[in-house]
Amino acid sequence: MTTVLITGGAGYIGSHTVLALLEAGHEVVVLDNLCNASRESLRRVERLSGRTPAFVQGDIRDRALLDRLFHEHAVSAVIHFAGLKSVGESVAQPLAYYENNVAGTLTLCQAMQAAGVTRLVFSSSATVYGDGHPMPLHEGLPTGQPTNPYGRSKLMVEELLGDLAASDASWSIGLLRYFNPVGAHPSGEIGEDPRGIPNNLLPYVAQVAVGRRERLAVYGDDYATPDGTGVRDYIHVMDLAAGHLCALNALGEREGVHIWNLGTGQGHSVLEVVRAFERASGRAVPFRIEPRRAGDVAACWADAALAERELGWKAERGLEEMMADTWRWQRQNPQGYSQDD
Ligand code: NAD
Ligand code: UDP
Repeated sequence: MTTVLITGGAGYIGSHTVLALLEAGHEVVVLDNLCNASRESLRRVERLSGRTPAFVQGDIRDRALLDRLFHEHAVSAVIHFAGLKSVGESVAQPLAYYENNVAGTLTLCQAMQAAGVTRLVFSSSATVYGDGHPMPLHEGLPTGQPTNPYGRSKLMVEELLGDLAASDASWSIGLLRYFNPVGAHPSGEIGEDPRGIPNNLLPYVAQVAVGRRERLAVYGDDYATPDGTGVRDYIHVMDLAAGHLCALNALGEREGVHIWNLGTGQGHSVLEVVRAFERASGRAVPFRIEPRRAGDVAACWADAALAERELGWKAERGLEEMMADTWRWQRQNPQGYSQDD
């Protein structure tokens, strides 16, 4: 049994991963400044698991806090979710993004090094591949040029971690490149709770279905895809959480940096998602075709073979289950966690 520090553990992917680790018998310490999360997510994780993770409310940029945390808890690995993730906001506030995502990770790694903790799983993104590659995207491709500060912050951290591992063989680092995380725990108790108007497709669709928003804007129907709308590799957050557990275990036996795509290997168009959501919810999702969104690519999906080969991990949940679980979460929590704060 391992004690794992999970930064950003109160957030969307973090809370599902905390639950998976508790259920697997690990001790968990969550560090989160709650800038984009509610304490309620962890209360619900406690109810679901019957176990209580240690919770530290604080910032990954706070070195003194990190030193204290590593002193007080026998942490042997870190899963690092904490960071800012809105593409649009990153264009308006690049310094906040570089400070949280890049400088924050740097401080975390310095504290880990000082504490002798050298196993790290990092939340990266398929955005680091940039544009112009043929699909599917595999880990052997060179990274490209992300089109916004958020994407560049992820790439910078990948490079920083590569340099760190090259400097000291005791480090063992997993870079998990997520495709499009969606869905929720099947209980409907924890899920994605974006603040303000959602940028991402699924939370927007779910809020239309539940009556919080009038209609979806579909950004472009003239792409070179089967129905003209954008194609993405949507992956269920429960599969993603399981992938973190597998990566954590695999890193125990490996040194250096390892990159794994976490996707299903299958693409779905915006209209396919809308139709699947309508089936799962029994509600209409009105939409209007609008111009393409700047920076969007036509299609993006993963080659997920490496994670299967090296981690023994494979996404098991299909689109219908992703939609059904998103809907259950949305229906049970029409205002997200905020009703409970
Ligand atoms: P999220 O916003 O729900 O979770 C991030 C958590 O980190 C939040 O709980 C927030 O309060 C916390 N946090 C932010 N800055 C912090 C700081 N400086 N110190 C301490 N805590 C801080 O986001 P998520 O969707 O769960 O994403 C988790 C990670 O995965 C992020 O790094 C994100 O960039 C990455 N990622 C997400 C997606 C996606 O579509 N959701 C895709 C690819 C990669
Ligand atoms: N999309 C859309 N309307 C929205 C949000 C997204 O049509 O309100 C489309 C977007 O153009 C892309 C897909 O849905 O083709 C997934 O977008 P999202 O922002 O969820 O993820 P991305 O792949 O851009 O990170």
